[in-house]
Amino acid sequence: MKFQLRDEELGIIYVQRRHNARRFNFRCAADGIYVSMPPMASSKELEEALESVRPKLLESRSMVGPRLIDFDYRIDAPYFQFQIHPCSGQRITARTAPGKMDVYCPETTDFSEDRVQQWLRKVIVEALKRNAEVVLPPRLEALAQKHGFSYRSVRVNSSLSSWGCCTGDNHIRLSWRLLMLPQELMDYVLLHELCHIPHKDHSPNFWRTLSGLVGTDAKALQRQLVRSQIVI
Ligand SMILES: [Zn+2]
Repeated sequence: MKFQLRDEELGIIYVQRRHNARRFNFRCAADGIYVSMPPMASSKELEEALESVRPKLLESRSMVGPRLIDFDYRIDAPYFQFQIHPCSGQRITARTAPGKMDVYCPETTDFSEDRVQQWLRKVIVEALKRNAEVVLPPRLEALAQKHGFSYRSVRVNSSLSSWGCCTGDNHIRLSWRLLMLPQELMDYVLLHELCHIPHKDHSPNFWRTLSGLVGTDAKALQRQLVRSQIVI
């Protein structure tokens, strides 16, 4: 018997009961997570097994199925543009400007080489992090001032499992991955964290306040966010 689950963090989970399975087995693929489970196991046991491997799954999911970076690869996000251009030289070089990175590769570059992919991925992530440091804290500050919130500090991190968080004593953490989202969703996450300053939970009051700030149904934006997967 097969069925599908949708998890806020992990995306689609394909579950299959196998008559010869003795225990839960999890596998990460580009299109989701595949689970085989023993025939008599309950859904509560499935939930427990999933929780016990959640950190590992989040980590391996981030390594699975990244797109090939070649002359067709583009990033066209509101605060970051990336493109690769062919060049006549022999070496790969990069040029950066605020919100922008251009890489020049010899026309003969073999993009199927792991070494090339790893290098390109590394320079892209580094550029995104640098730009996130420049863009996200001032944007948070502007929204906080506009809506009358005050937080203790803001830091940009590399979290894979959350877009942002607000600690109990109002320190805000934001993932550099936010830079890859459309403006509306990026602002939604910043306002969501600011909204945790007065509301430390996801109560109906929290959602009401947040919907007032974003000017639309905040839960609909949350659903859009859950569907957004950032793979570099
Ligand atoms: Zn929250």
